[in-house]
Amino acid sequence: MNLMNITRRNFLKTVVAGLGTLSLTSELLHFKKWAHASAETALSRVPTICNGCGNRCGIIAYVKNGRLWKIEGNPEANGNLGVICPKGHGYLYDLYNPARIKSPLKRVNGRFEPITWEQAYKEIAQKINLILLSHGPQSIFWANYPQTNHLYALRLMHALGSPHYFTHGSTCYTARNAGWVYTVGELPSNDLANSQLIVIIGRNPAGGIDLGQVKRIVQAKEKGAKLVVVDPRHSETAILADEWLPIKPGTDLALLLAMINVMIKEGLYDKKFVAEKTVGFDQLEEQIVNYPPEWAEKVCEISASTIVRLTRELAKAKPKALIHRGYHGAFGAQYLNSFQTARALAIANSLLGNINREGGIYFPKTALLGELQPKHPAPELPQMGKLDGTGVPGRYPLGSYGDGIAHAIPELALRGELKAGFVYHYNPLRTNPNPKRVIAGYQKLELLVAIDTVLSETASVAHDVLPESFYLERTEAIDTKHSGKRAQVSIQQQVVKPLFDTKPGTQIIIELAKHLGVGKYFDFDIEEANRLRLKPLGVTLEQLKEKGVLFVGYKWKEGFDRLNTPSGKVEISCQRLERLDFPSVPQWQEPLVSPDPNDPHSFRLLHGKQAIHTHAMTANQPILMSISHRYDMIRLWMNRGRGIQLGLKDGDWVQMESLVGKGRIRVRLTDGIHPSCVWLPSGYGIFSKHLKTAYDIGLSYNDFLPTYFDPTVGHAMASEIVVKVMKA
Ligand code: SF4
Repeated sequence: MNLMNITRRNFLKTVVAGLGTLSLTSELLHFKKWAHASAETALSRVPTICNGCGNRCGIIAYVKNGRLWKIEGNPEANGNLGVICPKGHGYLYDLYNPARIKSPLKRVNGRFEPITWEQAYKEIAQKINLILLSHGPQSIFWANYPQTNHLYALRLMHALGSPHYFTHGSTCYTARNAGWVYTVGELPSNDLANSQLIVIIGRNPAGGIDLGQVKRIVQAKEKGAKLVVVDPRHSETAILADEWLPIKPGTDLALLLAMINVMIKEGLYDKKFVAEKTVGFDQLEEQIVNYPPEWAEKVCEISASTIVRLTRELAKAKPKALIHRGYHGAFGAQYLNSFQTARALAIANSLLGNINREGGIYFPKTALLGELQPKHPAPELPQMGKLDGTGVPGRYPLGSYGDGIAHAIPELALRGELKAGFVYHYNPLRTNPNPKRVIAGYQKLELLVAIDTVLSETASVAHDVLPESFYLERTEAIDTKHSGKRAQVSIQQQVVKPLFDTKPGTQIIIELAKHLGVGKYFDFDIEEANRLRLKPLGVTLEQLKEKGVLFVGYKWKEGFDRLNTPSGKVEISCQRLERLDFPSVPQWQEPLVSPDPNDPHSFRLLHGKQAIHTHAMTANQPILMSISHRYDMIRLWMNRGRGIQLGLKDGDWVQMESLVGKGRIRVRLTDGIHPSCVWLPSGYGIFSKHLKTAYDIGLSYNDFLPTYFDPTVGHAMASEIVVKVMKA
């Protein structure tokens, strides 16, 4: 029967025939009763935090008959102002995803077997204790994509005597953070909603995705603000822009140096601010003469007249003008010159006098949570640098000890220095550069424990897998991430009961600690920990659970007396850098590699997020992946002119090769990208056979990226990739 031709009458006929001896009337009555009861069932409402990406937006989850019904944005939440994105909706699928890990797993003869939690904990503790005895605490590590409970993972490593706690920062943001910290003492925010001119260099909040930032940009534009996007690609944010400047990739530093040159040469900077709140202006003034706009035009391919005009516009709008503080692209962990670029960014903003000013760059007010101690004493801090070189004089001297250099783990494992590790809510086999080497390193470990909800690439090679409850099934630690001009706390709380034999991340950490013999530092549960941490803020856990997010009193004020730098001022020239043999004021530095201008097949490979995927994490969601297919989004962007030169048509298959990898992908020919580069969306190229929806679809830039460590913070230099692209 053609399904399209089913009428109510023939449907009922068919049903009657099929039911045989069953009483149709009683069945229909039963259905009606069920439908009525279902319609009558009240929706229960639980505020919580979305885990679909690192933004951790405030959401309200609705439950009906014990099942998740829908989620909505929490209008009180500072980070997303009541909206949620497609990833947030799509990620819900994982709650009922049949591919979820349903119990602890142990690898036996290359296959996973379900085991009990008790057996898993006992066997893991036995192996860890043996490794501790023979190789010492420095041979153990914990790596995770930051979660609200990261403090407890850190406490566990410290309790075991290991300094080795890693985040994904070395492949994401560490150069950007260091650039700001060495200039103004901390990482600031952008007061987008009150700005009159917003310049965004190499950041894509509309694709990245930061919902709060996008809303605030739109608010500013509604008040008449201008948005300028500087990006080699016409990104999702460029769609919102008044002006798009397609810069040559890797040269953002040249643009910023030239803008600083214009500000100083034309006397456009905030002289009062510079005189009172900065140190080292004279050294900058001396050196910046080397970087006029005419020089920059040749390097970054933005015309000198545009650079001068844009700088004058910024100066006119100052201090309600800002150059976005940046994230991943250009500044984060992309180029050899990323740290210098971040320094130049911080200095350019400072010259506008916009530091901690309305409409400029500001320091958000973060809630100061209480401590677990003295009630629950903290372990001693391990007195040693990390094997990756962070915290060790002479090696990656600006590196972040707190983040570590996670993409060094395979190296350290291959050298036999790391022997066992826990990887939590993180998938380095797919998201770190040069997977062949990453796999070899992680497979060299004597023990790898993955804590995850699905069998990702990393979980697939682990010795033991501990299943974490899906985020809607667990209550976690208080979060302070989305503080802005007012400090805000938020909470991730249980919405539905766990469907399988899984546990919340914090509970897993606490139970691991108890089995590892360091339970004295973990004599609490998440409820008690949350109460202790909220205590100084004058709000109760019950109030927070009721609303999901709460403002807690600290309010932002314009201006500052003293910054968190040695001089207490903006360090335009930085003596600490000079002592470490880095330039004290930013200087031009070429990218590490560049495409061959004489080879028509040679391109720089860039990459970035699409608004429907969170790197590799959401690729296996059928709804999100169906959007990728429907809109033909799994393609390599290439400049139309360059493509035609290679004899390509839109949609053709191409072969792409770098020093370390190769693969085939279809091409998207467009005028929306600088001719010197190609751009690959991140989130594809999944190779875990357990993730059936995503398996073997598209490519990942990590397959083409050699293993690099920049000399400042040790970041991955993730855009220092030259590829050859040929018609397949
Ligand atoms: S941006 Fe989207 S996926 Fe990320 S936390 Fe917010 S709603 Fe969830």
